[in-house]
Amino acid sequence: MKFEILTLFPEMFDSYLATSILGRAIAQDKIQVRCHNIRDFATDKHRMTDDTPYGGGSGMVMKPEPLVRGLEAIQERDDPRARVILLSPQGRLFNQEAARELSQLPRLILVCGKYEGVDERVRLLAVDEEISIGDYVLTGGELPAMVMLEAIARLLPGVLGDEASTSEESFSKGLLEYPQYTRPREFMGCPVPEVLLSGNHQEIALWRRRKSLEQTFKKRPDLLRRAELNDEDMEYIDQLQRAANQDG
Ligand code: SAH
Repeated sequence: MKFEILTLFPEMFDSYLATSILGRAIAQDKIQVRCHNIRDFATDKHRMTDDTPYGGGSGMVMKPEPLVRGLEAIQERDDPRARVILLSPQGRLFNQEAARELSQLPRLILVCGKYEGVDERVRLLAVDEEISIGDYVLTGGELPAMVMLEAIARLLPGVLGDEASTSEESFSKGLLEYPQYTRPREFMGCPVPEVLLSGNHQEIALWRRRKSLEQTFKKRPDLLRRAELNDEDMEYIDQLQRAANQDG
């Protein structure tokens, strides 16, 4: 999958893209990431990328010409046409489902805003979708672009390697993951649950499913409404509910 990032600060991506799992994925050509400096597409001699807002008010607004020129240049360079996403606190909320959906695309362009944001005509004329990474306001779209890039890339074949699977983890089936343990067997008086040492795969699977339901019930009950649950799961949740009612 190819990612193209339009930003005023391409250098922010350097160490991030050279490190760890994404660094390896790029080195092994599992993903391609190209950062483009919006300033390179500025049209005037001072290479201005922002200006004061019409109607007054504080701060600066990113000018439309450099962004639209940049997008046209990037789209022309490669096939097929890429989906264009504007990072914005006003966009659809990014989550695991969105990451999965976007990971099916061959090519994605992420546009990072800065200052007070981007001239509205960029969104109207050149953007397919606005995406937000959460209900808070950051100073730029660079961290949100990295968040999206990482969440999408790790779902692509070969990026995490054979050692890890994304089919069991939190949100994959609408539930949070079960608790994980490693050595030592006992830590500060707190032992690893006996069942995990039993070698009985069926029992371990049942324990994990139940813990997964339990974590979700306790920490994120809102997720249960949309999770894929079978009769046995529903029965277990009823049990949890009854126990909670008794405690409360
Ligand atoms: N004035 C705007 C916020 C601008 S923040 C408003 O009130 O809606 C500056 C830039 O940071 C935005 O253009 C966007 O690219 C990025 N940004 C800030 N918060 C974000 C978030 N939660 N998700 C995605 N991008 C965000």
